[in-house]
Amino acid sequence: MNVTPDAFRRTKIIFTLGPATESEAMLEKMIVGGADIVRLNMAHASHEWTRTIVRRIRAISTRVNREVALLMDIKGPEIRTGDLPSPIQLKPGEIFDFTVHPSTSRESDQEVRSVDVNYRDLVNDIQIGDTVLVDNGLIRLEVLAKDQAHIRCRVLIPGQLSSRRHINLPGVRINLPAFTEKDRVDTSLGIAEGVDFIALSFVREAKDVNDLRTFLHEHGSKARIIAKIEDQSAISNLDEIIEACDGLMIARGDLGIECPFEDLPVIQRRAVRACIAKGRPVIVATHMLESMISQPVPTRAEITDVANAAYERADCVMLSGETTVGKYPLECLQMLDKIARRIEAEMDPDHQEPLNFSTEKMKILHSAVVLANEIPGSKILTFTRYGYMAQGLAALRPTCAAVYAFTPTIEVLRQMRLLRSVEPFLMPFAAKPDATIENAIEMLRQAGRIKPGDKLIVATDILAADRLVDAVQLRTVR
Ligand code: PGA
Ligand code: MN
Repeated sequence: MNVTPDAFRRTKIIFTLGPATESEAMLEKMIVGGADIVRLNMAHASHEWTRTIVRRIRAISTRVNREVALLMDIKGPEIRTGDLPSPIQLKPGEIFDFTVHPSTSRESDQEVRSVDVNYRDLVNDIQIGDTVLVDNGLIRLEVLAKDQAHIRCRVLIPGQLSSRRHINLPGVRINLPAFTEKDRVDTSLGIAEGVDFIALSFVREAKDVNDLRTFLHEHGSKARIIAKIEDQSAISNLDEIIEACDGLMIARGDLGIECPFEDLPVIQRRAVRACIAKGRPVIVATHMLESMISQPVPTRAEITDVANAAYERADCVMLSGETTVGKYPLECLQMLDKIARRIEAEMDPDHQEPLNFSTEKMKILHSAVVLANEIPGSKILTFTRYGYMAQGLAALRPTCAAVYAFTPTIEVLRQMRLLRSVEPFLMPFAAKPDATIENAIEMLRQAGRIKPGDKLIVATDILAADRLVDAVQLRTVR
């Protein structure tokens, strides 16, 4: 079965795999339905499951002739509460202890209820007056006192505390490594299975990304790194993180807990703009269609949120719970697809992205995009061995034109799934650049992407006398 979507969607779609989408039949529907990247959340995945699923996705991609990318999301440093024999119903104003050294019990304090925490140095990182949020921010406590074994808190917003709940500490600098032992083991599996992207959770500074990059290099992996920004340190160090990574994920789930929630839209807008200016792909993630976990239609606010990401010209939008445990995963994909296409049709043709590129290569690409923006109905062609030409063109955000990017390498093709406006094609390059261009035009014709009379803007090296030079050509399809 060959897939030819009738119209071109610029905004790419990532969905997270889970029980709702892992079956052969459902995966095929999602891939044929236009999903671009599949996310494996290693917080919940066993290695056996991961191996099975990676192979399943690759096999389906081959069968339906639409190669999607795999993104392995490693969970990074995480603080959790320990096991409880039964859930604790916290009361407003109650005094409650977090215990970091479970063996030290205090005889005199038996009336104070407590739970263990999996991170011993928490007492050193946290200060009196700090806020502790438990279970995705649902329960709020304030730190009153601490000693080497306990953190004593007062409950500000009560709730039911059950076993192994996630703890967020807004504004607290945690001394855990960004790349944990579990991350190392998971990443090794990802490398062995050839995943295309590794997403690093709770990136706080550029060094976190660089450490992962060193690990990938040492193990011969070409996987690209997505930095997930999820807390206040990441926001303070945003520019250096964007420089260091290959793509950014605005992880609004944790970000909305770690930062004042009213800052979230401001952070999102700023981060998307900064990524575009620096030529890095950017993903808007989490809660995009949250109500569709249980309902077949989204709320009006969710529609507007998805539209907003498309208006901001993010590269990708992402589904999480909607496609892991939701009742309507395919409907969610179709909903994102529909909203994105509608908003893309509204894009202001006079809009110009700020140009921060100093290299000559980028100036050449810029001239290709200017040309494309001035010729209605034109399409951009590029040829790329590592994907950087396509990434540069995507960053320049052509107003309407699709970027057809040809590469001889399947890994590069998959990595280009992340890029806004880019449709990747696999094709060996001929010895002479001109023959390569002719082959590409033929391939586009056969795929139904171009017809006689269409204007093509080709950005690639050409042979001039005996040297390769960067060039932009305008051609008409015969
Ligand atoms: P998670 O990250 O789903 O791995 O927590 C995304 C987010 O926090 O938004
Ligand atoms: Mn998160």
